[in-house]
Amino acid sequence: MGLLMGRCILGPLELTGRSRTHVIDNKDISCVLHRDVVRPFMAMRRAAARAGISLDPASGFRDFATQVRIWNDKWTGQRVVHDRRGCALDVLALRPAARVAAILNWSAPPGGSRHHWGTEIDVYDRSALKPGARLQLVPAEYRTGGPFAELTAWLDDNMDRWGFYRPYVTDRGGVAPEPWHLSHAPTARDASKRLRIGAIRAAIADGGVLGREALLKALPTIYARYVRAVDRPPK
Ligand SMILES: [Zn+2]
Repeated sequence: MGLLMGRCILGPLELTGRSRTHVIDNKDISCVLHRDVVRPFMAMRRAAARAGISLDPASGFRDFATQVRIWNDKWTGQRVVHDRRGCALDVLALRPAARVAAILNWSAPPGGSRHHWGTEIDVYDRSALKPGARLQLVPAEYRTGGPFAELTAWLDDNMDRWGFYRPYVTDRGGVAPEPWHLSHAPTARDASKRLRIGAIRAAIADGGVLGREALLKALPTIYARYVRAVDRPPK
């Protein structure tokens, strides 16, 4: 990690979640975030609280090893893989290339998740969950009539004051729309600029990833379709 005018500049190991020098563990909210994202997120969280909304992180920084674990569990069928409509698939019946494609519906390739940057946060409102209900992270929870509709509306009106926006709104056939996924635009912009496909390839090549050959073969397509194809922050 380098420093440029007080900002920290991420290198290939940090951009692929193989180093944690850019992130800070925030014990108050049990969330690990990029050091430049902690303050804006906590300020936004305080403002949300004043509006009666509990802005809780479900997931912040995720390291490479964790993304590999998720990937491998899906590869071996130990974790359920859903198609784009949310139906469970029998992954073991799929050939390697098709299995890679199926997992990519809902999981980023190891090394290619924006969560590695520490600039991304999946959010929900714990206080809006019915007693005994569990967070599912499905779009219906965030729409009108869902428990987090108020959270969605509040974020729509306010999050850009702290530099946050949603990178996965438009369905381009890559990452499915994720209304819970927020990105800190100024910090993520730097990370995105510095990320190269070679950094992801290197991470996958020596990282214990199952289906590695099929994944590496499809990587240029995956990189364009799942890593690069995101919504831009509002001007
Ligand atoms: Zn996310």
